[in-house]
Amino acid sequence: ESLGVALVGLGSYSTYQLAPALEETQHCHLAAVVTGSPEKAKRWTRQYKLNPNSVYDYENFHQIAQNPEVDIVYIVLPNSMHAEFSIRAARARKHVICEKPMGLSSEECVSIIDACKKAGVKLGMGYRLHSEPYTMELKRLVKQKKYGQARYISSTAAYVSRGNPNQWRLNKSLSGGGALMNMGVYAFQALIYAAGSNPTSVSAQEYSTRPEYFKETDETITAQFEWANGALGQMMTSHNYRSNHLRAEYEKGWVELSPASTYIPLSGKTSDGPLDFKQESQQKLQMDDFALHIQGQQPNRAPGEMGHRDLLIIEAIYRSIREGGKKIKLNIAPDYGRS
Ligand code: NAD
Repeated sequence: ESLGVALVGLGSYSTYQLAPALEETQHCHLAAVVTGSPEKAKRWTRQYKLNPNSVYDYENFHQIAQNPEVDIVYIVLPNSMHAEFSIRAARARKHVICEKPMGLSSEECVSIIDACKKAGVKLGMGYRLHSEPYTMELKRLVKQKKYGQARYISSTAAYVSRGNPNQWRLNKSLSGGGALMNMGVYAFQALIYAAGSNPTSVSAQEYSTRPEYFKETDETITAQFEWANGALGQMMTSHNYRSNHLRAEYEKGWVELSPASTYIPLSGKTSDGPLDFKQESQQKLQMDDFALHIQGQQPNRAPGEMGHRDLLIIEAIYRSIREGGKKIKLNIAPDYGRS
């Protein structure tokens, strides 16, 4: 069975990644859109041959509850709108995919998880890498302890942001923060799946080299993590330096992904030689996995708890920075939010 997906917010990620991916998916398809722009509504209806009754705006969005063609609502709005629209989707009794970061705070994440539980709908994060073959192979190697315990891991997820200084990503009330909220999740998630458990502490530092452009949001952050088994990790995320890699040293070998979190194509090698997987749209794999999860045929590869865990880590990083780099203890169970 192919499930119907409604995309909420028709910005660049919906336009250039998700909608094209939904033309390749086998277990779900684009069935509806939610947009504030009548012009986009018209264009998308034509381009994707949508049922005109399956086009909503932000006000009449609740009417999606009555639309049997929609099974999944995918929230692709600025970060400050994730919680409101995820909760509205759950109340309309639709399964929810929420883009990252899940919300502006860990409290918002809990309210989304609660709303989905109460409505009896599934909740997945837009964390495409958990359906991506290089990442899945790394997770498999770690789970099987192929190279033994993790020792030292480093990871970066960073690009140079220029252009419109009024974009929402630079506006703290819409984004909740800068590089850390945007790319930072990839950097510390990589450390976590390479380590095979959640870390126990973090210390962090912030750098600002273009304050005239990054007026409200963090530009560059580094952070160091510890694990209960003695592993150490270091991450860098930035809107002003370009870097994207993961290198994990284990007792008996190593794994490298470079790039480690871009859309396509990832590449990687281990101490045993190169990895080589078929290149496919990560978004296609992610949405098909979630559709199969709803139908009881797959685990939830990126559950809401993962999004919540990530906000707990983000909050600890910002707190460490506010407290001058102090080491913050993370009270997160080793497997909470992991898949
Ligand atoms: P974008 O700016 O291109 O699109 C945002 C959309 O939201 C636009 O269509 C805009 O019209 C709409 N919108 C509604 N209210 C708005 C408001 N008050 N201010 C600004 N825009 C408003 O952004 P995007 O790159 O498509 O990102 C959307 C979400 O998707 C973000 O949460 C982002 O983190 C996430 N994202 C995830 C990935 C990924 O790889 N998983 C990649 C890109 C973006």
